[in-house]
Amino acid sequence: MSTSINYWLVIPAAGVGNRMQTDRPKQYLELNGQTVIQQTLSRFETIDCIKGIVVAISETDEYWPSLDIKINKQLIVVNGGKERCLSVLNALNALATQADENDWVLVHDAARPCVPVKDIKRLIAECEKDKVGGLLAVPVQDTMKRVNDQGRVVVTEDRSNMWHALTPQMFRLGMLRHALEQAIESEVVVTDEASAMEYINLSAKLVDASASNIKITRPEDLALAEFYLNKQGELQ
Ligand code: C5P
Repeated sequence: MSTSINYWLVIPAAGVGNRMQTDRPKQYLELNGQTVIQQTLSRFETIDCIKGIVVAISETDEYWPSLDIKINKQLIVVNGGKERCLSVLNALNALATQADENDWVLVHDAARPCVPVKDIKRLIAECEKDKVGGLLAVPVQDTMKRVNDQGRVVVTEDRSNMWHALTPQMFRLGMLRHALEQAIESEVVVTDEASAMEYINLSAKLVDASASNIKITRPEDLALAEFYLNKQGELQ
């Protein structure tokens, strides 16, 4: 086992994003003169401890090869899977050939180009001594309703302990790989890494983050992302 712990970044980018109603996956839409995924990658440029990046791209992706990616870190590209968790697992499997199982992996959605650099740094600082790892999150502000199949309210949930799970999410390579393998093998749907950890009874730490770290999902999100990026630019 190596003595120094490395940090890696995994970017699942193999989604098709059909809620955007656009001609291309959302990670290739234009945002402030670059594609969304280029903006996302650039948020991590100044995080010096990150040694390399694995990007999971769909096998049928025709946009990625045409991008001019300039990044000051090792870049590995793997095929994504049918679900996000399969894309992440493919990336972790590729990493496992050169990384230690105790290395930290930050998993961040390609579709979240507005993550503030200070939040990435805070996540690392608050989790690097943790046994499990953690994730960026924001407390729920709205009243939460659970509905039935007919779209009618069944119950109002207590929101006092409810948080929105964002990314990056940061876990040890070996533990996360094991957790995802177990969940996938049991056909449990996990939409983020923390859920896979929960599946093997490991509880992730929540790190309070900025709500500007939106996931581009609907057409109106692009204008909002542009607003947040410009605001962050003004603050630097
Ligand atoms: O679809 P959703 O917005 O939840 O996707 C979150 C992230 O996971 C996106 O960056 C998307 O490209 C990625 N993804 C993936 N493989 C899939 C589905 C989604 O890498 N099969």
